Amino acid sequence: MTEQPSPVRLRSALSGVPAYVPGKPPAPVEGVTAYKISSNENPHPPLPSVLDAISQAAQSVNRYPDMGVVALTEALAADLGVPVEQVATGTGSVAVLTQLVAITCDPGDEVVYAWRSFEAYPIVVALSGAASVQVPLDEHARHDLDAMADAITDRTRLVLVCTPNNPTGPAVRADELDAFLDRVPDDVLVVIDEAYLEFTTEESVPDALAVARDRPNVVVLRTFSKAYGLAGLRVGYAVAHPEIATALRKAATPFGVTDLAQQAAIASLAARDELLARVEELVAERERVVAALRDQGWDVPQAQGNFCWLPLGDDAVAFAQAAQARGLMVRPFAGDGVRCTIGETEANDRLVDVAREWLSTQG
Ligand SMILES: *Cc1c(COP(=O)(O)O)cnc(C)c1O
Repeated sequence: MTEQPSPVRLRSALSGVPAYVPGKPPAPVEGVTAYKISSNENPHPPLPSVLDAISQAAQSVNRYPDMGVVALTEALAADLGVPVEQVATGTGSVAVLTQLVAITCDPGDEVVYAWRSFEAYPIVVALSGAASVQVPLDEHARHDLDAMADAITDRTRLVLVCTPNNPTGPAVRADELDAFLDRVPDDVLVVIDEAYLEFTTEESVPDALAVARDRPNVVVLRTFSKAYGLAGLRVGYAVAHPEIATALRKAATPFGVTDLAQQAAIASLAARDELLARVEELVAERERVVAALRDQGWDVPQAQGNFCWLPLGDDAVAFAQAAQARGLMVRPFAGDGVRCTIGETEANDRLVDVAREWLSTQG
């Protein structure tokens, strides 16, 4: 039965859906500890207080979670200083993004975003039947917000701004974001994807919550996956106008955010100072690695997330293979560059070594 082609008619949109390429797990290399720096994960295991919350919650996994995600939504709202009506959660911010597309786009509508950017964007958009309008990054691997504003048509329903941009690293500035938003029609929703907000250090970064307060067509997207180290539990959220947030709740998978995830996220908010101290260490490591790479001659763009970008062009995959031979899994984007997550100190040191060796063998 499975040898025969399936006679079932699937949606034609599927043929345009690219496959997500997950970061590879560490491949063992004789004599060295292998490190995975390919998925922008937090290298720190959960805090004891967070583990406690998870194991408490584990005792009632025979029950459905709170479908309204009430306690976490209230904790987030209090934390962010916004009304609860403006917070909507989902199973990771990628799921919230899927909900955002579902509530705005009919087939044939357009979603504008920078490229290269987060690889989930083209997947989520294509699956919905909407069309991706990808606007090339500028020569500094930054969003070209003028070109993005120019790309908006009457079919545009959604614009995605990824700041800091995954995988290249730069963050948009408050002034350029404001000028851009002035040009976006107010019936077009703009998503500010701040998955790496906690790692930003530039003073020029926007206060996206304040921007969303002033502009009802702006949504802020955040996650517990990166700075808060809960990638494996899948919980993210949007801060949006109450009507948008209500629509997002309608589009959510019922009971999607597990009680483990809800309790872990609440415990993480309570332990924020401890978690942000870890983030501060990772940021210091990022600065150290980026400075070392630039010293070697690499043209590393501004790095405002927990990762840095090596613009290797056609050598991206070969570099990733060389890194893998040294027990370091990085994330190549064929023909474009390599994204390296800031991880354990030894992993970071090894990245600097691999990058130096690469240059010396390129002559
Ligand atoms: C990692 C990441 C996310 C978060 O994904 P989750 O689904 O919350 O794990 C969202 N946006 C960008 C740009 C990311 O890199």
